[in-house]
Parts: sequence; structure tokens; C-alpha cells
Amino acid sequence: MKPSFHVISHTHWDREWYLTFEQFRFRLVDLINGLIELLESDPEFEVFHLDGQTIVLEDYFEIHPENKERLEKLIREGRILIGPWYLQNDEYLTSGEATIRNLQTGITMSRQIDKEMKVGYLPDQFGNISQIPQILRGFGIGNVVFGRGYDNFKSHQEQEFLWEGADDSRITAIFMPNWYNNAQRIPEDPAKALKTLKLIQAKIDERKQTNNYLLMNGVDHLEAQENLSGILKGLRETLGDEVEILHTTLEEHIRRVEAELLSPAVQKGEMRAGDDYHILAGTLSARVYLKQENVKAQDLLEKWIEPLAVWARMSGLGSYPEAYLTYLWKSLMKNHPHDSICGCSQDEVHEHMMDRFEALMEAGEETLRRQALSLLRGINQEGMGDDDQLIAVFNPSTLPLSGWIEQCIDFLEKDSVQSFRIFNAKGEEVPYQIISQTKTRKQRLSPINLPTELPVDRYTIGFAAEQVPGQGYTSYQVIPSQLPAAFEAPQNEESKLENEFLRVTVNPNGSLNLFDKITGETYEQQLIFVDDADAGDLYVFKYLHGDKSLTSAELRAQVQATVTTEGYQAVEIGWQWELPASLATGGASRSEDKVGYPIKAMLGLLRHARHLDVRIELDNAAKDHRLRVRFPIANAVPGTLAGGQFDVLRREASSGKEYVRNANSQPNWKWAAAGWEQGMAVYNKGLHEYELTEADTALDLTLIRSVGTIFGRPNPLPHENDDNPLGQCQGIYTFELALRPFGASDNAAILAREAEAYHHGLRSYVVPVREDKWASGRPWVQDSEIGDLFSRPDPDAGKPRLPREASFVMLQGDGAVLSAVKKRLGGSEIAVRFYNALDVPTSACLTLAAGISRAWKADLMEQPTEELQTENNTVTVQVKPKEIMTILVQTG
Ligand SMILES: [Zn+2]
Repeated sequence: MKPSFHVISHTHWDREWYLTFEQFRFRLVDLINGLIELLESDPEFEVFHLDGQTIVLEDYFEIHPENKERLEKLIREGRILIGPWYLQNDEYLTSGEATIRNLQTGITMSRQIDKEMKVGYLPDQFGNISQIPQILRGFGIGNVVFGRGYDNFKSHQEQEFLWEGADDSRITAIFMPNWYNNAQRIPEDPAKALKTLKLIQAKIDERKQTNNYLLMNGVDHLEAQENLSGILKGLRETLGDEVEILHTTLEEHIRRVEAELLSPAVQKGEMRAGDDYHILAGTLSARVYLKQENVKAQDLLEKWIEPLAVWARMSGLGSYPEAYLTYLWKSLMKNHPHDSICGCSQDEVHEHMMDRFEALMEAGEETLRRQALSLLRGINQEGMGDDDQLIAVFNPSTLPLSGWIEQCIDFLEKDSVQSFRIFNAKGEEVPYQIISQTKTRKQRLSPINLPTELPVDRYTIGFAAEQVPGQGYTSYQVIPSQLPAAFEAPQNEESKLENEFLRVTVNPNGSLNLFDKITGETYEQQLIFVDDADAGDLYVFKYLHGDKSLTSAELRAQVQATVTTEGYQAVEIGWQWELPASLATGGASRSEDKVGYPIKAMLGLLRHARHLDVRIELDNAAKDHRLRVRFPIANAVPGTLAGGQFDVLRREASSGKEYVRNANSQPNWKWAAAGWEQGMAVYNKGLHEYELTEADTALDLTLIRSVGTIFGRPNPLPHENDDNPLGQCQGIYTFELALRPFGASDNAAILAREAEAYHHGLRSYVVPVREDKWASGRPWVQDSEIGDLFSRPDPDAGKPRLPREASFVMLQGDGAVLSAVKKRLGGSEIAVRFYNALDVPTSACLTLAAGISRAWKADLMEQPTEELQTENNTVTVQVKPKEIMTILVQTG
């Protein structure tokens, strides 16, 4: 069989990186303008591959809308290939759900132009998650072409193989061992062109499995090679019948490889092999502030707006904010490209990202508030007084959840409310704590009256909300009263926290001893801070030769109890620490100059909680360092568990140790644990990097990494554009995590569900029972004689009322972990997505309070694939290990 060369003309489009989005866009506009001209004038330039992402079209059309027809014609003719992705996100630093929405968006955009590329193209991601095979299969894509995370030099041989995901899904995988630029630009000189081809051939021959040679003609931000068709013609003439040279598509290349590769090797699980700079390992912790904002925004869209909007619609209240959700998801995904969320770009890029997060949170919070208030106003208020207020606490977890709620309540000053009492949905009085009390003017805004202000007495209260129903809410009636409320003042005494599961004592150095009453294990010296110099850059952490870690183990801490109520205990720990200010000039050691480095930790323990909440506050005044927090285990563990994207990863302690890495850090999504069957799990918000240390007897979680360059690899000369002081992350930070010891009675799904619940927590909203009492506005100022306020009827008046507490969606099953509750893409049904976190099959039951009339299994485009039997408003399905399942439901 003769060799067949497949030249794939492409560009790799990092939307923002060492230049900002706007700066790079000039080059994108040049690229696409030139591409249109080239393809229209040279019919022998067959096809150009636009990096597997559709966002570049939006970016281009904002500048040149007049070229829409011309460009889309070339796409329809198959000469420019787009999609399937909206953009090239980092898979480890964004949720599994975000990866699905990314494909949904890219495929929808491609179908609007009537042409979609069926190639899972992941050229540059810094490692690939275990569920990529199943996710791509869910979109009808049976292959992947990727460039990082597969170490074919050491542990594997084949560059073409079958990749089996966390479940049993398999796809054809093509790794690009010489990356996506092995034929970056082919010389015009015929002799040189021939030599280039032979060199590429020889490289591929080292690991050749079929007669198909993949020649990636392009690289980051390069324009199409304008003289390529002539060069390929010349090569064909020179080589005659000896070889076949095609200017073609990845789809064609994959088709031919699959036809020849008769017994491919199988590789299982995540693809994150390689040395530090291959997988750019330090990006898990670079610019932690981006990661923290991202997980907040992810939860807001996935765990809050979408489910609450479904509940409101199921209840006949409000309408589904589909247009806003489309907008919000696209805004969020614009922060997900690998160079963006990884934090390895110029300061300006990340400042723009923070602006995007801020705008997204403003729009997202208002979208959520509207859904929450339509539910809250729908709760039955029968028997409540005119001056009462109603608080609703919402819980999007499938588990009943308890939490410490801090809620602001206003009373009209003219009502002179002196005290108030709070009653839960069962009519029991709830103790609360007043956190602050003030007088203020409350702004009143209205679509029909001018804005005004009302003087109010404002209380901020704290109370323990207990057992809030899963995927639902409970409510609390606030009654103004002359009697003092039944709450206890905080007792400022001992630094001990205890409930039916845990007993926590604080050691003199501020670390904790945590006794697990279920297993009888004590975990000593938890919460030790460990600081190291970081001589690396935004891509990679690098140890400083000869430097020793500094720890908080020898410090003396101050301890103080802050809250003691029936349902919640809190203790505050403070450390006074000093750290070297930065690296010394020359970078060979840490500087002699010290900076004050005070740290505060707030511990909170709820009645019935299996975990201890820890909130760490610090002012990061040191540079060129990495601060981690350590959780020791008495005996060496065989490995770790880590929350993943639709997965729980069970990693061996030795995992990754065969590579040259300064830190053998591993990614986690929402939680990581030392130990497989028993040990300590650490739930966290946006702290994606952990490492097993101290000879496998401690889990270290990175809090912050401070470095100021992108390209800081050993080079005595500074880079002209590589001074990025914001990468040092100076200033005040808050980190949230929770300690959860586990044992034989727990499993991966239990921990995954709890970690999800910890992550999104509870949210509360309040409304006055008689809102008309609060209706106000300045009268119409042009005519003071009329002076009336206008009013409009309530659109939900007279609708059926909701009970004082309820669940809307019930999902049960040993392994089932909920991912999404949303309206179906392009349809009106409810889509519920979950996965089986266990390694054994599980059955799952889905029940809807609104009733189920019909239900289907669906693919990831949310198209029905199989109708399901329903019985008593419940659908029962069998779910394979690590299977992601989407169920569509028609209510009624
Ligand atoms: Zn890239």
C-alpha cells in the first residue's frame, strides 16, 4: 500500500493569551479576510480547518457583518470547517456540564449554517478528562484528535488507539506526537518541499501504524498558506504514483485510519501524562482568583438559575429565562478557553476576564432573584399577619441540607418593630442571632412610579436552617413581636466544636484534632500551612534548589468562640506569621526581607453535619511563593479520590511520579481525599490543585501561588512583554473548604453528592407578606394635585399556592449524582442530567412533584433516544458505572 499524505490546513486560535482578545482579533480579521479571498480565487486550495471552534465566527462577524454570506457559503460548501466546539475550554478547570454546553452551543451554531464537523478536536488542552469519550459519543462523535496529556515516548507506543473513557465508551483517538504543527508551513522551493515531506515522513515512520500520514499545516494564529496548492501539485508531479498527497479534512484522515487500524490498542481513563511543561501543571493553581470566580459563576447558572427556573415553571409561576440563560452561558464560556481560565496570559487578559465575571454575576444574580421571588411570592400566606415577613431558603441539592443562613430583614421605621420571632414551616420557633442592626433608607424601584426611599430598621440575622428539602425549599415566618425572641447570646468560652458525628479541638499551634465518631479515628494536626518558594512561572511551579518549606506547626495561634447556638457553633483561629517578601535578586534564594502574613480561619460546625466548615482569610503580601494547607493522615494511603467532571477519580499514590515534575500535583473538581476506603476528604471552592505529600501521609491543597511571569523559564534576559505583577495575587483572599472524614459506611457517590451540596450551599430570600404596604414612589411631580401612586395587578394572583416547604425533583439511587435540571435544549420538556459515580451499576428513580406524563432517555443534544415507562410519577432507569444520563420529562 502506498503512503497517503493528508495535509490539514488549519490555524490554532487562542482567543486571548500573550495579547488581549482585541489585539488578537486584528489578526483573526486578517486571517479570515485572506482566507475568503484565497478560497474564492484558488479552487485547488481545497479546505481550511478553523480550529474546531465557532466563536471565531462571532468575533469576526462583529467587525465584518457584510461578509456573512460569503463566509457561510464557503462553510456550506465544506471548504471551511467549523465546530463542533464553541471554544477550546480547559476541561479540568470548568465543569463537566460546561463542556457539554460548549458542544451544544458549537453544534447549534454549526447546524444554523447547515454544516457540522464530526471531529472531537482538542489540540492544545493541558490534559484531557476521563469522560471525553462518553461526552463526544453523546454528541454522535466517535473520535478525538488531541495534542497533550498522552506520553507516547514512555508508557505507550501507539499514536492511534481506542480511548476508553470512565465508562465503557470508546472512540478512535489520534494523538499528534509532533503536535499540530508538524507541517507548519511547507517551503515553496520544490527541493526543499520534498525534503520537508521526507523529514515529516521519517518522524511519523518511527511510530507508524497505518499508511496514513497526518500533516498539520498551521499553528497558533497562523494564516492559511497561500501558495500551498501549487506546492502540493509540484510534489505530486515529482513523486508520481509512489505516494498519494491529499489536501483534506480530519474526517477523511480518521476514516482512512479507522479502515486500516484493525486491532487498535485500548487506553483507559484520563489523559494527563507527561512532564511539567507538557501538561503545564501549575496552571491548576495560577491566579486562583479566576478559579474562585469561575466556580461561583458555574454554580449560579447550573445549580441555581436553571433548577429554580424549572421549579417556578413547574409551579405555573414565572417564565423560563431562556434568552438570558443563553446569554449568560456564552458569557461564562468566554472565560473558559485554556489560556484564559488557566491564568497563563497577560495581566490585561485576566483583568478583562474579571470584568466579564462581574457583568455575568450582575445579570445572573438578577435572573436568579426574579425566579426565587416568583417562587417565594407563590407560597401560601394564609393566616399570616399584615406585618409578617416570609423567608424562603432554597436547596438545589438532591439531599436535604442544613446550613447557617445570614439574612437581612427590614422593618418599616414607622411600624416601630422592637423585636421579632421566627417560626419554621412546622410552626416551631427558630433561635437566631442578631449580627447587626442599623437604620437606613431602603430604595424602592418600580416600572410605573418614580423611585423613592423608605426609612427602615435593618437587621442582619443568622440562623441554622435545618433539613431543607432536596431540590426544593422551606420557609420561615417572621413575626414582629413585643416578646423577646427565643435566642441565646453567644457564649465566649472554649474552643471546642462537637456534634453527633464530629468532635474538634484546636491545638495551641492552631491546627485541629478531629475525632470521627463513626469510625473512631482521630485526625491530628489538620490545617497546617506550608509555604514554599516558587521559582517558576504561571505555567509551572518550580522548587528553589536548597530551599526548605516553612510551616505554621511551630506558631502559637489565638482562638476565640464566636457563635454558639443550638444548631451551629463557630470558632475563630488567628495566626501571626512572617514570610520572605519575595525571591532575592537573582532568584537563587528567598529574600531576607520579611512581610507580615496574618491568617485567620473561621471554623463552623452545624448540628447533623458530617463535615467541618473552614473559611480562611489572609492578606497575601508575599511574592514568588506557593502556600498550601496540609491535612495529615496517620498511615500512608494507597492513593487519593478526586472529584472530577462526571467522575470520581481513584488515583494511585504513585500516579504521575514517573514524570519530571516539580510538584506531582493533581486536579480536583470540588473535592479531593487522601485514602480510598477510609481517610480525609476535603471539599473546596475553586482550589483545584492537590498533592499527596510526606510519603503519602498528607494531602496538601494549594491555596495560592504567586508568580509574575508567563515565560519565566531559565533565561537571563527578561521578556519585553512578560511583566505580569497581577500574577503575584497580592491582597486579601478568602478560601472556603470543609473537612469530611470518611470510612466504610461511605462511598464515592455519597462524598460527591455532599461535595456538590457543600459547594452551592443554601440561599435565602425574604419578602413582606403585604407587599402593598411597601409600595411607594414619589408622586408624579409635574402635577402635585393628582399625587397618586399607580398600581398594576399581580400576574400570579389567584394561581394555586405552594406549600410552606416542598421538593420539586427527587432523584434517588446509590450512585446517582445530579448535574443539571433545566429546560431541554430547543424544546419545552424538563431535562434532568446525572451520572453514576460508582464503579458498579446503579438504579436511579426520578420523581417530579408536578407529575410525569411521558419520559425519554436522551443524548447530549437532548434529543430523545428511547421512551421510558413511568409509574406513579416515577421513572426508574438502570445506570452503568460512570454513565452520564439525560432524562427528558413531560410534566402533568
Ligand atoms: Zn492554545
